[in-house]
Amino acid sequence: MDTPKEILLKDYKKPDYLFDTVDLRFQLDEDKTIVSSKIAVLPRIEGVSCPLVLHGHDLKLLSIKVDGKDLKKEEFQLDMRQLTLASPPTSAFTLEIVTEIYPQNNTSLEGLYKSSGNFCTQCEAEGFRKITFYQDRPDVMAKYSCRIEADKTLYPVLLSNGNLIEHGGLEDGKHYALWVDPFKKPSYLFALVAGQLESRDDTFVTRSGRKVSLRIWTPSHDVPKTAHAMYSLKSAMKWDEEVFGLEYDLDLFNIVAVPDFNMGAMENKSLNLFNSKLVLASPETATDADYAAILGVIGHEYFHNWTGNRVTCRDWFQLSLKEGLTVFRDQEFSSDMGSRTVKRIADVSRLRNYQFPQDAGPMAHPVRPHSYIKMDNFYTVTVYEKGAEVVRMYKTLLGSSGFRKGMDLYFKRHDGQAVTCEDFFAAMRDANDADLSNFLLWYSQAGTPYVKVTSSYDPDAHTYTLRFSQEVPPTPGQPVKEPMFIPVAIGLLDSSGKDMPLTTVYNDGMMQTITSNNQPVSTTVLQVKKKEEEFVFSDIPERPIPSVLRGYSAPVRLDSDLTDSDLLFLLAHDSDEFNRWEAGQVLARKLMLSLVADFQQKETLVLNPKFVDGIRSILCNSTLDKEFIAKAITLPGEGEIMDMMAVADPDAVHAVRSFIKKQLALQLKKEFLATLIDNRNSGPYVFNHHDMALRALKNTSLAYLASLDEPELTELALHEYKSATNMTEQFAALTAIAQNPGQVRDDVLSDFYSRWQHDFLVVNKWFALQAMSDIPGNVVNVQKLLNHPAFDLRNPNKVYSLIGGFCGSPVNFHAKDGSGYKFLGEIVLQLDKLNPQVASRMVSAFSRWRRYDETRQTLAKAQLEMIMSANGLSENVYEIASKSLA
Ligand code: ZN
Repeated sequence: MDTPKEILLKDYKKPDYLFDTVDLRFQLDEDKTIVSSKIAVLPRIEGVSCPLVLHGHDLKLLSIKVDGKDLKKEEFQLDMRQLTLASPPTSAFTLEIVTEIYPQNNTSLEGLYKSSGNFCTQCEAEGFRKITFYQDRPDVMAKYSCRIEADKTLYPVLLSNGNLIEHGGLEDGKHYALWVDPFKKPSYLFALVAGQLESRDDTFVTRSGRKVSLRIWTPSHDVPKTAHAMYSLKSAMKWDEEVFGLEYDLDLFNIVAVPDFNMGAMENKSLNLFNSKLVLASPETATDADYAAILGVIGHEYFHNWTGNRVTCRDWFQLSLKEGLTVFRDQEFSSDMGSRTVKRIADVSRLRNYQFPQDAGPMAHPVRPHSYIKMDNFYTVTVYEKGAEVVRMYKTLLGSSGFRKGMDLYFKRHDGQAVTCEDFFAAMRDANDADLSNFLLWYSQAGTPYVKVTSSYDPDAHTYTLRFSQEVPPTPGQPVKEPMFIPVAIGLLDSSGKDMPLTTVYNDGMMQTITSNNQPVSTTVLQVKKKEEEFVFSDIPERPIPSVLRGYSAPVRLDSDLTDSDLLFLLAHDSDEFNRWEAGQVLARKLMLSLVADFQQKETLVLNPKFVDGIRSILCNSTLDKEFIAKAITLPGEGEIMDMMAVADPDAVHAVRSFIKKQLALQLKKEFLATLIDNRNSGPYVFNHHDMALRALKNTSLAYLASLDEPELTELALHEYKSATNMTEQFAALTAIAQNPGQVRDDVLSDFYSRWQHDFLVVNKWFALQAMSDIPGNVVNVQKLLNHPAFDLRNPNKVYSLIGGFCGSPVNFHAKDGSGYKFLGEIVLQLDKLNPQVASRMVSAFSRWRRYDETRQTLAKAQLEMIMSANGLSENVYEIASKSLA
């Protein structure tokens, strides 16, 4: 293959042509679909002639006309990826193009494709070019109409963006619908659905009195499972009005659930498409985690209507402009709907377990990347989650009302436009007259900053000094970095554990008053901007214990001189609940790393009794939120620990984590049993914080207990499994039992399958649970499951559960005999023929191969090289594999 071309941010040029209106007509059929498009084109600079380049991929061109006249052969040029009109008219003209496509053969799930017999589309980022020839880039915004024609019995429901203007019957058992979207939009927000669907209908009245029809579409038997999705949608609509003053802008909002979908969901204007697993839920089939994910993602896609659709991205490098901001918005929404602290803990854990490793590996890229080969590869935890942290920092620096002013100005300036991350920054800055000096570096520098803080107390002067130093590690293409602008939220605890009142701080010889309404504050945000910097608090009567980076105020790795007893003190007293959890995590990370060293030295592992006491006191503290307790007694993930090691050792980390888990279970058996019994809840399933907290704590206790593999505890887990009335508890019990190989495990797994084989979303959980197992030699079992009748390589959810699940299991994927690597290498090539986006996600599991020992390096590298040498490799997989080897 030709070496794929890298696209660079610095090469951005405005489009030469503007598209005013686009009228589409789809003639959907079983063997082919005909797409006719009529575009009102305008040269950006009138009177200047230049070529018009249209993107197009896998399209059969049937005809092309300018102002009603067929173009002659020599007037256009067609190649693999584009259609070029050498010298179109220099003033407004109409372009008419007819193409033929084959959605029934489209396994990439990009463009127009079929899922369970229904037609649907996915256009972000560059899928519209698989439907028709177009300037397929987000800064070309046009008003669309869409006429759909299809067989009336096979496809009774015909949907597109905007409003339904007209519909009716046609000859030969066909019918049609005409949709018109009054808002201009980029092509990536276009959507069409045709099929046998039924809807749950509801209405929402906006605060200005607009009555909006809400419809959630699924195959008819799934309609009962859309109640939670509808609740989530209405809650999101209300929340956005209350918190951001943003209202919905059309009379209709549609959501369609699709079983075959590469990503989570898509924010197409007024016609969101969702992966079924993020819509369908019932207490019997979905867990609390599923319910929470649905709430968050329904919110996310709805919030895109303003942050993404009304104001969109100029180019794909700006993706975080819409995604970082919208993730931040959905995080805030979920926080307000449940527990803020618990949500924050979950989000920070995700950042640490997935984004930190990415930021430290060969695929490290800034929140706004500088280059890409396939944009699909840049829908990453860095663009999304780190991007959300960047948005959160504006709020931390400007305060809630300052942040809101910035948002208001952003919409005032840019509604209807395609803009950049600088535009967002400028709105925040200008609305607040803020000095945000080098804040923009967060968008351009990759790598997780490493921040070190040390402290000293002067008992005579009553001053307390915090000294910060920062370092941003080198990343591919960025060997040297500038210091970043890091907001560090600080509180100081006195010896009784209370927050000290803070009034003044000196920085750079300048005094800053930090009171609020003339009152001392308990938390202040320090602006750390230099490589080394010092802050001196005055009027500090005794040596404090500092609570640094409260609420995780910046996405950095923090190292401090806090002792274990300081950390235990913070764990017991910090008024900032996030940092309270964090103190426990810092202790746990230290402990795990030191036990890993012991394990590697073949020493006997011994668990520090102080740690056990710390966990006991959290577990038995009846004043704490129960979901918080569940989080606080959960050890840091294996990925997080491996990420902190010079050479990642999956066997050692896994052995240590299992050891601590079992030790805690053994030493706190009585407490865990009592907690389990106290937190049983016999009432019906309700999705609310209170009940979820009970279930979380009960299930965490059960997982600890079952790890002991004692007959009476296995019996207990079996009892929980059999008596469970909801999937959260049933699956937690199954997971607890499945920790230990043996007959009980095998029996319960097969019982679970036979109960749920009719429900493919539940079956995916069953696949994932087995795939992630740490049972030695599990690759053989996963290999077998590939041939299970319920498995299908063409369905992304199944691939993510079985293959993705397996790659997430450190011990088996990284098995020293290379069996895990070989398994993945072969599967990636098979997948790549069907669906490059999914293959590329899977191949990413190899990207950090250099982090492991030499034996593993050699084995993983061999697989990457094998992949690279394959014929007809997609650009998606090529990009990840080649960058991983570079
Ligand atoms: Zn999004």
